[in-house]
Amino acid sequence: MVEEISREERKAAKPHQCFHCYRTIAKGEVHDVFTGRDDTIYTIRSHLDCQAAAIARITELMEWSDYWDGVPPLYDEMTDSGEFENECAYLRGRFPHVVTRMELNEQLGQIRHAARLVAAGIEPHGEDFPNIYG
Ligand SMILES: [Zn+2]
Repeated sequence: MVEEISREERKAAKPHQCFHCYRTIAKGEVHDVFTGRDDTIYTIRSHLDCQAAAIARITELMEWSDYWDGVPPLYDEMTDSGEFENECAYLRGRFPHVVTRMELNEQLGQIRHAARLVAAGIEPHGEDFPNIYG
């Protein structure tokens, strides 16, 4: 069980990686800073809208009891669901910047995957990479 030690909004003194989308929180950007205790004491930082989207998704679609050990990164939740496009559609109207970051992650991941195939001498098939060849 995660125990909350503190949560606050803070202006970034330097760039950080967002817990939920893995994109950069820019220097000077106000963001969410959560410090908790589980087996260890840890701090996670998130874009404010990423944090709001993660909470909205859980509150509206999931059961809080499934998250007794903490909220995982939103990007992982969206990709692990097998419903990435539907997850994006669900959040897009209220959290457009969050969805843009998630889609950028998908595109960059597919570009890296396709580059690895090419480097191994394998021709990527466009239908396997709809976000970059579609
Ligand atoms: Zn984020």
